[in-house]
Amino acid sequence: MSCLPIDPDFQKKRKKVGKEKGIAIWGPVDPPKKLGIHGTHVAIDWDICTGCGVCLKVCPVQLYEWMETTGHPTSEKKAFPTRESDCVQCYKCEKQCPVQAIRIVFWPTGWNAGKEGIYSLAAYSFFLQAIGGIIYGVLFGPYFNLKILFYLGWIVLAVGLLFFISLPVYFPRKGKPQEGKSLMDTTVLVDSGTFAIVRHPYALGGILLMSASILVSQHWLAAIVGVPIIVLMYLEVVKEEKGLIIKFGDDYKRYMQKVPRMNFILGIIRSLRRRKKKETL
Ligand code: SF4
Ligand code: SF4
Repeated sequence: MSCLPIDPDFQKKRKKVGKEKGIAIWGPVDPPKKLGIHGTHVAIDWDICTGCGVCLKVCPVQLYEWMETTGHPTSEKKAFPTRESDCVQCYKCEKQCPVQAIRIVFWPTGWNAGKEGIYSLAAYSFFLQAIGGIIYGVLFGPYFNLKILFYLGWIVLAVGLLFFISLPVYFPRKGKPQEGKSLMDTTVLVDSGTFAIVRHPYALGGILLMSASILVSQHWLAAIVGVPIIVLMYLEVVKEEKGLIIKFGDDYKRYMQKVPRMNFILGIIRSLRRRKKKETL
Protein backbone atom coordinates (compact mmCIF):
# COMPACT_ATOMS: atom_id res chain seq x y z
CA MET A 1 0.00 0.00 0.00
CA SER A 2 1.31 3.48 -0.94
CA CYS A 3 2.84 5.65 1.79
CA LEU A 4 3.10 8.74 -0.44
CA PRO A 5 1.19 11.86 0.69
CA ILE A 6 -2.24 12.61 -0.74
CA ASP A 7 -2.01 13.76 -4.35
CA PRO A 8 -2.45 17.59 -4.31
CA ASP A 9 -3.88 17.42 -7.84
CA PHE A 10 -6.39 14.69 -7.10
CA GLN A 11 -9.29 16.83 -8.35
CA LYS A 12 -7.67 16.94 -11.80
CA LYS A 13 -6.33 13.42 -11.93
CA ARG A 14 -9.18 11.46 -10.34
CA LYS A 15 -12.87 11.12 -11.00
CA LYS A 16 -15.76 11.37 -8.60
CA VAL A 17 -17.15 7.84 -8.28
CA GLY A 18 -19.91 8.43 -5.76
CA LYS A 19 -20.98 10.05 -2.54
CA GLU A 20 -21.32 9.04 1.08
CA LYS A 21 -23.51 11.17 3.36
CA GLY A 22 -23.29 13.87 0.71
CA ILE A 23 -19.45 13.84 0.66
CA ALA A 24 -17.76 13.10 -2.67
CA ILE A 25 -15.58 10.02 -3.14
CA TRP A 26 -12.73 10.30 -5.65
CA GLY A 27 -11.76 6.96 -7.20
CA PRO A 28 -10.50 4.53 -8.08
CA VAL A 29 -12.11 2.38 -5.40
CA ASP A 30 -12.12 -1.36 -4.96
CA PRO A 31 -13.31 -2.14 -1.42
CA PRO A 32 -12.17 -3.27 1.04
CA LYS A 33 -8.55 -2.79 -0.11
CA LYS A 34 -8.81 0.43 -2.16
CA LEU A 35 -11.06 3.17 -0.80
CA GLY A 36 -10.04 6.37 -2.63
CA ILE A 37 -10.19 9.97 -1.42
CA HIS A 38 -13.15 11.15 0.67
CA GLY A 39 -14.07 14.84 0.53
CA THR A 40 -13.42 17.64 -1.94
CA HIS A 41 -12.30 20.61 0.16
CA VAL A 42 -11.42 18.60 3.23
CA ALA A 43 -10.00 15.61 1.41
CA ILE A 44 -8.67 12.48 3.13
CA ASP A 45 -6.91 9.74 1.25
CA TRP A 46 -8.32 6.66 2.96
CA ASP A 47 -5.65 4.48 1.37
CA ILE A 48 -3.02 6.42 3.34
CA CYS A 49 -4.95 7.19 6.57
CA THR A 50 -3.78 5.03 9.47
CA GLY A 51 -6.70 5.93 11.73
CA CYS A 52 -4.48 7.64 14.33
CA GLY A 53 -7.19 10.14 15.28
CA VAL A 54 -5.03 13.28 15.30
CA CYS A 55 -7.34 15.13 12.90
CA LEU A 56 -10.39 14.38 15.05
CA LYS A 57 -8.53 15.72 18.06
CA VAL A 58 -7.20 18.96 16.55
CA CYS A 59 -10.15 20.07 14.41
CA PRO A 60 -11.67 23.11 16.20
CA VAL A 61 -15.09 22.60 14.62
CA GLN A 62 -15.23 18.80 15.10
CA LEU A 63 -16.22 18.12 11.53
CA TYR A 64 -14.73 14.63 11.38
CA GLU A 65 -16.23 11.33 12.48
CA TRP A 66 -14.98 7.76 12.38
CA MET A 67 -16.06 5.31 9.70
CA GLU A 68 -15.47 1.56 9.88
CA THR A 69 -13.27 0.21 7.08
CA THR A 70 -12.95 -3.45 7.95
CA GLY A 71 -10.39 -5.27 5.82
CA HIS A 72 -8.40 -2.20 4.72
CA PRO A 73 -4.63 -2.75 4.95
CA THR A 74 -3.67 0.52 6.73
CA SER A 75 -6.47 0.64 9.35
CA GLU A 76 -9.94 -0.62 10.17
CA LYS A 77 -11.36 2.88 10.74
CA LYS A 78 -10.86 6.17 8.86
CA ALA A 79 -11.44 9.86 9.45
CA PHE A 80 -14.48 11.03 7.49
CA PRO A 81 -15.19 14.78 6.87
CA THR A 82 -18.92 14.55 7.66
CA ARG A 83 -19.46 18.30 7.97
CA GLU A 84 -16.93 19.34 5.34
CA SER A 85 -18.58 22.71 4.74
CA ASP A 86 -17.98 23.75 8.38
CA CYS A 87 -14.21 23.81 7.83
CA VAL A 88 -12.66 27.14 8.84
CA GLN A 89 -9.42 26.37 6.97
CA CYS A 90 -7.10 26.50 9.95
CA TYR A 91 -4.96 23.71 8.36
CA LYS A 92 -4.31 22.12 11.75
CA CYS A 93 -5.37 18.66 10.57
CA GLU A 94 -3.40 18.89 7.32
CA LYS A 95 -0.23 19.98 9.14
CA GLN A 96 -0.48 17.41 11.90
CA CYS A 97 -1.57 14.31 10.02
CA PRO A 98 1.50 12.07 10.47
CA VAL A 99 1.13 10.41 7.07
CA GLN A 100 0.02 13.51 5.09
CA ALA A 101 -3.28 11.93 4.13
CA ILE A 102 -5.21 15.25 4.29
CA ARG A 103 -5.46 18.06 1.77
CA ILE A 104 -7.41 21.23 2.54
CA VAL A 105 -8.43 22.91 -0.70
CA PHE A 106 -9.35 26.57 -0.35
CA TRP A 107 -12.88 27.75 -1.00
CA PRO A 108 -14.86 30.70 0.36
CA THR A 109 -15.93 29.70 3.84
CA GLY A 110 -19.54 30.73 3.63
CA TRP A 111 -20.27 28.46 0.72
CA ASN A 112 -21.33 24.91 1.27
CA ALA A 113 -18.79 22.58 -0.26
CA GLY A 114 -21.49 21.00 -2.40
CA LYS A 115 -22.61 24.32 -3.85
CA GLU A 116 -19.70 25.31 -6.06
CA GLY A 117 -22.23 25.97 -8.83
CA ILE A 118 -23.93 28.71 -6.82
CA TYR A 119 -20.54 30.21 -5.97
CA SER A 120 -19.51 30.26 -9.64
CA LEU A 121 -22.83 31.87 -10.56
CA ALA A 122 -22.31 34.61 -7.95
CA ALA A 123 -18.69 35.13 -9.10
CA TYR A 124 -19.73 35.45 -12.77
CA SER A 125 -22.63 37.73 -11.81
CA PHE A 126 -20.21 39.90 -9.86
CA PHE A 127 -17.94 40.49 -12.87
CA LEU A 128 -20.87 40.86 -15.28
CA GLN A 129 -22.60 43.36 -13.01
CA ALA A 130 -19.44 45.39 -12.29
CA ILE A 131 -18.17 45.52 -15.88
CA GLY A 132 -21.60 45.54 -17.60
CA GLY A 133 -22.92 48.46 -15.52
CA ILE A 134 -19.85 50.60 -16.17
CA ILE A 135 -19.91 49.87 -19.92
CA TYR A 136 -23.62 50.66 -20.03
CA GLY A 137 -23.09 53.98 -18.23
CA VAL A 138 -20.22 54.96 -20.55
CA LEU A 139 -21.98 53.98 -23.80
CA PHE A 140 -25.55 55.01 -23.08
CA GLY A 141 -25.24 57.34 -20.10
CA PRO A 142 -26.89 56.85 -16.69
CA TYR A 143 -30.44 55.47 -16.98
CA PHE A 144 -31.89 58.18 -14.68
CA ASN A 145 -29.44 60.81 -15.88
CA LEU A 146 -28.45 61.84 -12.34
CA LYS A 147 -25.06 63.35 -13.14
CA ILE A 148 -23.90 63.77 -9.52
CA LEU A 149 -24.40 60.06 -8.86
CA PHE A 150 -22.70 59.27 -12.19
CA TYR A 151 -19.54 61.17 -11.21
CA LEU A 152 -19.67 59.84 -7.65
CA GLY A 153 -19.71 56.38 -9.25
CA TRP A 154 -16.32 57.04 -10.88
CA ILE A 155 -14.80 58.04 -7.54
CA VAL A 156 -16.24 54.92 -5.91
CA LEU A 157 -14.84 52.88 -8.80
CA ALA A 158 -11.32 54.30 -8.34
CA VAL A 159 -11.35 53.66 -4.57
CA GLY A 160 -12.85 50.20 -5.15
CA LEU A 161 -10.12 49.22 -7.61
CA LEU A 162 -7.45 50.30 -5.17
CA PHE A 163 -8.83 47.98 -2.49
CA PHE A 164 -9.76 45.20 -4.92
CA ILE A 165 -6.19 44.65 -6.08
CA SER A 166 -4.89 44.43 -2.50
CA LEU A 167 -5.12 40.70 -2.20
CA PRO A 168 -2.99 39.68 -5.21
CA VAL A 169 -0.55 42.48 -4.34
CA TYR A 170 -0.05 41.76 -0.63
CA PHE A 171 -0.84 38.07 -0.05
CA PRO A 172 1.99 36.56 -2.12
CA ARG A 173 4.60 38.88 -0.56
CA LYS A 174 3.40 39.30 3.02
CA GLY A 175 1.12 36.33 3.66
CA LYS A 176 3.61 33.59 2.74
CA PRO A 177 1.01 31.31 1.14
CA GLN A 178 1.63 27.58 1.31
CA GLU A 179 3.58 26.24 -1.61
CA GLY A 180 1.49 24.84 -4.42
CA LYS A 181 -1.72 26.23 -2.95
CA SER A 182 -4.00 29.18 -3.57
CA LEU A 183 -2.60 32.57 -2.56
CA MET A 184 -5.50 32.69 -0.09
CA ASP A 185 -3.77 29.94 1.88
CA THR A 186 -1.64 32.39 3.84
CA THR A 187 0.45 31.28 6.79
CA VAL A 188 1.16 34.77 8.16
CA LEU A 189 -1.38 37.42 9.16
CA VAL A 190 -1.21 40.32 6.68
CA ASP A 191 -1.79 43.63 8.48
CA SER A 192 0.12 46.16 6.42
CA GLY A 193 -0.71 48.31 3.37
CA THR A 194 -4.46 48.42 2.73
CA PHE A 195 -4.81 45.65 5.33
CA ALA A 196 -3.78 48.27 7.91
CA ILE A 197 -6.84 50.33 6.88
CA VAL A 198 -9.50 47.60 6.72
CA ARG A 199 -9.39 43.90 7.50
CA HIS A 200 -11.00 42.87 4.20
CA PRO A 201 -9.82 45.26 1.47
CA TYR A 202 -10.53 42.74 -1.30
CA ALA A 203 -14.17 42.28 -0.27
CA LEU A 204 -14.56 46.00 0.32
CA GLY A 205 -13.14 46.59 -3.17
CA GLY A 206 -15.66 44.15 -4.65
CA ILE A 207 -18.55 45.84 -2.86
CA LEU A 208 -17.39 49.27 -4.01
CA LEU A 209 -17.02 48.09 -7.63
CA MET A 210 -20.58 46.78 -7.62
CA SER A 211 -21.83 50.00 -6.02
CA ALA A 212 -19.95 51.99 -8.66
CA SER A 213 -21.65 49.96 -11.37
CA ILE A 214 -25.06 50.86 -9.88
CA LEU A 215 -24.17 54.56 -9.65
CA VAL A 216 -22.63 54.86 -13.12
CA SER A 217 -25.34 52.90 -14.95
CA GLN A 218 -28.28 53.85 -12.67
CA HIS A 219 -29.94 50.84 -14.23
CA TRP A 220 -32.42 48.73 -12.25
CA LEU A 221 -30.77 45.52 -13.50
CA ALA A 222 -27.41 46.53 -11.96
CA ALA A 223 -29.17 47.08 -8.62
CA ILE A 224 -31.17 43.84 -8.77
CA VAL A 225 -28.03 41.78 -9.46
CA GLY A 226 -25.68 43.87 -7.32
CA VAL A 227 -27.49 44.30 -4.01
CA PRO A 228 -27.94 40.56 -3.17
CA ILE A 229 -24.30 39.86 -4.06
CA ILE A 230 -23.14 42.78 -1.91
CA VAL A 231 -25.14 41.35 1.02
CA LEU A 232 -23.71 37.84 0.38
CA MET A 233 -20.17 39.19 0.21
CA TYR A 234 -20.58 40.96 3.53
CA LEU A 235 -22.06 37.87 5.20
CA GLU A 236 -19.20 35.81 3.75
CA VAL A 237 -16.67 38.15 5.36
CA VAL A 238 -18.40 37.94 8.76
CA LYS A 239 -18.30 34.13 8.57
CA GLU A 240 -14.71 34.08 7.34
CA GLU A 241 -13.58 36.03 10.40
CA LYS A 242 -14.62 33.19 12.70
CA GLY A 243 -12.15 30.98 10.86
CA LEU A 244 -9.43 33.62 10.94
CA ILE A 245 -9.73 33.93 14.73
CA ILE A 246 -9.16 30.17 14.99
CA LYS A 247 -6.32 30.27 12.44
CA PHE A 248 -4.37 33.23 13.83
CA GLY A 249 -5.61 33.22 17.45
CA ASP A 250 -4.89 36.24 19.66
CA ASP A 251 -2.98 37.99 16.86
CA TYR A 252 -6.20 38.23 14.86
CA LYS A 253 -8.20 39.40 17.90
CA ARG A 254 -5.67 42.21 18.42
CA TYR A 255 -5.86 43.03 14.71
CA MET A 256 -9.67 43.24 14.98
CA GLN A 257 -9.40 45.76 17.79
CA LYS A 258 -6.97 47.87 15.81
CA VAL A 259 -8.40 47.76 12.28
CA PRO A 260 -12.10 48.02 11.29
CA ARG A 261 -13.72 45.35 9.13
CA MET A 262 -14.63 47.51 6.12
CA ASN A 263 -15.15 51.07 7.30
CA PHE A 264 -12.25 52.58 5.42
CA ILE A 265 -12.82 56.15 6.61
CA LEU A 266 -12.48 55.03 10.22
CA GLY A 267 -9.56 52.83 9.12
CA ILE A 268 -7.70 55.77 7.58
CA ILE A 269 -8.25 57.90 10.71
CA ARG A 270 -6.98 55.12 12.98
CA SER A 271 -4.03 54.42 10.70
CA LEU A 272 -3.02 58.11 10.73
CA ARG A 273 -3.36 58.20 14.52
CA ARG A 274 -1.10 55.14 14.85
CA ARG A 275 1.48 56.73 12.58
CA LYS A 276 1.38 59.98 14.55
CA LYS A 277 1.75 58.11 17.83
CA LYS A 278 4.78 56.24 16.45
CA GLU A 279 6.39 59.50 15.35
CA THR A 280 5.98 61.09 18.77
CA LEU A 281 7.58 58.11 20.54
S1 SF4 B 1 -4.57 12.44 11.15
FE1 SF4 B 1 -4.26 11.48 9.18
S2 SF4 B 1 -3.79 9.37 9.60
FE2 SF4 B 1 -4.64 10.20 11.46
S3 SF4 B 1 -6.84 9.73 11.31
FE3 SF4 B 1 -6.57 11.76 10.45
S4 SF4 B 1 -6.31 11.41 8.26
FE4 SF4 B 1 -5.97 9.45 9.30
S1 SF4 C 1 -8.52 22.72 8.35
FE1 SF4 C 1 -9.05 23.09 10.50
S2 SF4 C 1 -11.26 23.32 10.48
FE2 SF4 C 1 -10.71 22.39 8.55
S3 SF4 C 1 -10.93 20.20 8.87
FE3 SF4 C 1 -8.80 20.72 9.29
S4 SF4 C 1 -8.71 21.11 11.47
FE4 SF4 C 1 -10.86 21.15 10.90
